[in-house]
Amino acid sequence: MSEWRGIPREEVPWFPTIDAKKCIGCRECLTICKNGVLAFDEASQKSQVLNPYNCVVECRTCARLCSAEAILFPSEMEFTQWLNDYRNTHERNDIH
Ligand code: SF4
Ligand code: SF4
Repeated sequence: MSEWRGIPREEVPWFPTIDAKKCIGCRECLTICKNGVLAFDEASQKSQVLNPYNCVVECRTCARLCSAEAILFPSEMEFTQWLNDYRNTHERNDIH
């Protein structure tokens, strides 16, 4: 299992969420991400999240490029809060 800063990747809540109501099906996000996180759903003609934990933690490239602002991530504040809570809960000094 892969890790991020010593934390199992699947415990790290960092991955895109796509607002299907906003997605216009332009596929720009699929062009930019080479990690297999996203896939195109032909039925709905919209992108969807296929492998959330393939997403590179703290990358937001696809969200920045989505002209429809359909891709969402946790805010920096939310993510920092989560990391602090995780450290406190696990009393881990090796997580930076
Ligand atoms: S870039 Fe945005 S609008 Fe275009 S397919 Fe991806 S999520 Fe949908
Ligand atoms: S944030 Fe980066 S790694 Fe994650 S899905 Fe978007 S482009 Fe891919």
